[in-house]
Amino acid sequence: MKITFWGAAKTVTGSMHEVGVNGKRYLLDCGMYQGRRAEAFARNTQLPFAPSSIDGVILSHAHIDHSGNLPTLVKKGYGVPVYTAPATADLCGAMLLDSAYLQEKDAAYLTKRHLRRKTLDAGFENGVVEPLYTVVDAEQAVKLFEPVDLHTPKVLDPTFSYEAYDAGHILGSSTLVLNAEEDGRKIRLAFSGDVGRPNQSIIKDPDAMPAVDYLIMESTYGDRLHKDLTAVADKLAEIVNRTCQRGGKIIVPAFAVGRTQQLVLLLHELFDQQRIPRIPIFVDSPLAIEVTKIFRQHTECFDDETREFLEKGEDPFGFSSLRYVPEASASKALNDLRGPFIIISASGMCEGGRILHHLKNNIEDPRNTVLVTGFMAEHTLGRKLIDKLPEVPIFGELLRLRAEVAKLNELSGHADQHELLAWVKPMAKELKKIFIVHGEPAQSAALAVVIKQQFGVECVIPERGDTVELS
Ligand SMILES: [Zn+2]
Repeated sequence: MKITFWGAAKTVTGSMHEVGVNGKRYLLDCGMYQGRRAEAFARNTQLPFAPSSIDGVILSHAHIDHSGNLPTLVKKGYGVPVYTAPATADLCGAMLLDSAYLQEKDAAYLTKRHLRRKTLDAGFENGVVEPLYTVVDAEQAVKLFEPVDLHTPKVLDPTFSYEAYDAGHILGSSTLVLNAEEDGRKIRLAFSGDVGRPNQSIIKDPDAMPAVDYLIMESTYGDRLHKDLTAVADKLAEIVNRTCQRGGKIIVPAFAVGRTQQLVLLLHELFDQQRIPRIPIFVDSPLAIEVTKIFRQHTECFDDETREFLEKGEDPFGFSSLRYVPEASASKALNDLRGPFIIISASGMCEGGRILHHLKNNIEDPRNTVLVTGFMAEHTLGRKLIDKLPEVPIFGELLRLRAEVAKLNELSGHADQHELLAWVKPMAKELKKIFIVHGEPAQSAALAVVIKQQFGVECVIPERGDTVELS
């Protein structure tokens, strides 16, 4: 068995690894590389292999940095199945189309800007900027999805099969265990995907993993420890109550998948327990609305608490004071509404989407609160907000940041260092080597050190393009 690390090597984005078994080639994930525009465009379009030579893709989960370059693969000639969990297949149906729509919109904007300024942008051809892929490409990719249940071995070849385990990271997220036989030798390789955390709301905890020979493992928080998840409801209640007393609005930038649904459920429980006043809540993101529908269809992914909630006849994602806002006109109408109320909107890092309008209209009022619920990458508007810059740019205008900025970091969907170690433990005894990926260099290096100390397993941090032979 041969592995080549094509993405998420010494970085957190563009997850993609190639596995060669008995002359066949498979991809684990086909994620979008996210970074500076020109570099990202080049990386995502110039695939390091012929897509038609790939015999199958096995996808760990729906996040765009794991699934988002599948339409490019298909556009360039890939035409066989993409194997993944049923919930992931459905989520990708919504997310890849949304991603394609954003690519088209971005390209149209850059074309216009180019014509105006005569600048040369990445992807520029014959006077127009080409999108990375189109909605039609994404639709073609979605057609290739073949859902495979968790805990069910899937035979792809007489000498190669895989089985998916619950990764506990987002709805449908899986850790993949590959079983190959080459020259009479059996090799077991696990690919972590992104590892979640115990006790996250809605979804189940990560499965206990079986013994394997080799492991490709993420390290996003390889050097960090999260705060206790149980304090999160208390903290959210305090923030809501404080803002309500001021008569303010709570503006929540949130990722459409997972974070929005977690927040809705948490607020629902706080209402039921009468710990916060019954103020209106608006979920103002078309993608989040689509994704919430998919959550409702995949109760097999829910944990016991969420199932109990359902069995009591309660709808975890719907209650009387909650409104989903599909139309842009209704979104704009929220500008004229008096607080207190809560708006949950995307994008998560405030780099686009309807959240920008809500921030523009509300951050200069000290009665309001911006509630940050996720990781904010450098240079994003979200990061400027948590850094509490006195002025922040929105739509080319500098606005004074006078609203309160509150953080709810406890909702992270990634395991921290202790949780990663606990996850590795059942596999550690028989492991020959771990390949550490999906982390900034310092995070990966720190995880390698503690794994070596605790379990005595050799860890390698591969470079992009490195190939290793496993036996
Ligand atoms: Zn993820």
